[in-house]
Amino acid sequence: MMGEIICGIDLGTTNSVIACLDQGKPVALSLEEGSAIVPSVVSLDDATGQLLVGRAARNRLAAFPDHTIRSVKRLMGQEASIHLGTRNFTPEEVSSHILHYLVENASKTLGQSIQKAVITVPAYFDDAQRRATIRAGELAGLEVLRIINEPTAAALVYDQVSWEEPDDSPYIMVYDLGGGTFDVSILELKGEIKEVLASCGNSALGGDDFDERLKDFFLRHLKQKTGYELPEDRALSVRLRDIAERTKIALSDRPFFLVDEVAVAFIDGEPVNLRLEVSRSEFEEMTRDLLESTLEKVTEALQEASLEPEDIGRIILVGGATRMPEVQASLSEMFDRPIAHSLDPDLCVALGASVQAGLIAGEPLGHILLDVTAHSLGVRTLHPYDFTDSANDHFSVIIRRNTRIPVSRAELYYTVDDQQPKVDVQVYQGESPYCRKNTLIGAFEFPLKPAPANSPVTVEFAYDREGIVHVSVDQKGYNNSKSVTLNVRQKTLQTESEAEGLVEKPVNYISEKARRILADERLPQELKDALIKLTGKYEQAVLAGDDDALIDELEDQLLEKIEQAEEGFETIG
Ligand code: AMP
Repeated sequence: MMGEIICGIDLGTTNSVIACLDQGKPVALSLEEGSAIVPSVVSLDDATGQLLVGRAARNRLAAFPDHTIRSVKRLMGQEASIHLGTRNFTPEEVSSHILHYLVENASKTLGQSIQKAVITVPAYFDDAQRRATIRAGELAGLEVLRIINEPTAAALVYDQVSWEEPDDSPYIMVYDLGGGTFDVSILELKGEIKEVLASCGNSALGGDDFDERLKDFFLRHLKQKTGYELPEDRALSVRLRDIAERTKIALSDRPFFLVDEVAVAFIDGEPVNLRLEVSRSEFEEMTRDLLESTLEKVTEALQEASLEPEDIGRIILVGGATRMPEVQASLSEMFDRPIAHSLDPDLCVALGASVQAGLIAGEPLGHILLDVTAHSLGVRTLHPYDFTDSANDHFSVIIRRNTRIPVSRAELYYTVDDQQPKVDVQVYQGESPYCRKNTLIGAFEFPLKPAPANSPVTVEFAYDREGIVHVSVDQKGYNNSKSVTLNVRQKTLQTESEAEGLVEKPVNYISEKARRILADERLPQELKDALIKLTGKYEQAVLAGDDDALIDELEDQLLEKIEQAEEGFETIG
């Protein structure tokens, strides 16, 4: 890099990132163990009198809570006094230590000192909060050339992308779900200027709340298992929250996660282990209201901007928590189009800030070439409640188009018949909901071990930069799996017609639970017949978007049958 460097800084509530232009291209600088994401945490080490920032500080949160501060951004602009051990700081001072840490380490990485910066703030920040941010930059020894809105920064970096299809609409929506905050903004492009038309959000909602739900779920599980209400001390709380976050992140890529942790607590000196399998649909169910409250804000923002969903052009996802598949699925449904991350949602605000820095410095900007999947990739499934000729031709997407690669995603399906001998795994790419209109990339047989109908099978795609997809299928609980490598850039095979298939995913956690029970050999025939019928009716009603009252009634009936079956299993043992 030549000349003076102006960097872009995303000074976030949970994490911060520093980026700069390298020959016209924005890059986020890796500062800690190869990662560009620096926790926005500061901790005072009493022994040395030193202030620690980033991971080193975050690691001290549990052990030194009185010496450590996170989420200082929430206090910016306030007359707060922050006590770390025996010392007091203003919010600006704490933020300035984060900025200083970023800039100093970035300067070391680049071998050149950084003195000027563009810093981002939420669109809703008022004047006092913006001034406090500038002051933090100055305290860190920086000249703050400009403060820009986070959604504007995200939109700026997306402008540098060379898109295959141009976007005609001047309206951009930025949906930002971070660790502790949620914002949705609608911007209008007027020439070079991006104006924020509407900005709504909830500064007390983020990925952490999703962790909290899982944590409560674990606590309930432990209570059920041990018969004890565990005292919720700090150590248990921190440990369970950490397990919850890892579980949540794992469930973004696969339909199940086995939590297996030893000695999360002690009862009378005896260790209590936490071992249970959590399914994605269970997790989605326990957090549905959180997600729905973000969608309400999206509706509010659209109303404020006097726009309809179809008026919006580009939709940009920002913040690590937008990696939850349900976020993308709900927005795709609301806006009636596939929505994916084309750039890293953790980095794009900082990258955009560096684009703004480049514009200020008059540097020539290059185009960003996206490393994304060109087409959606999925498998052929049949739909039990589609009575048309297309019943056996559904295209179930596992990786959406325009998703950043490399990427690995798994989905859950079910077998059709009792003792089904095999599954024909047919991998397609394309955008039609029907396989016959998409391209067959490869097909192979997966022999099954004898099992009842509705047995779960997971299909995982690992897509690398060379366009090679490793497809792994696993018959869950039968120690039976197979992997095949396909090249998605070669178009070859012809569509096969009749095939022994996989059934489409369950519609929600209740139907998933019903299907899991249906797969249990201990289920008496009579109950099984009733459950199959009821599951069918219920799924059909949900898919058809039937009346809520009807769905609720079927749900009650189904839950009752599920309970009956579970009680039966308990007596059988
Ligand atoms: P941010 O504030 O943008 O850094 O976002 C941090 C939040 O994103 C935290 O709540 C993380 O747990 C969450 N997060 C990061 N990666 C994932 C993932 N793969 N799936 C779900 N949540 C994630």
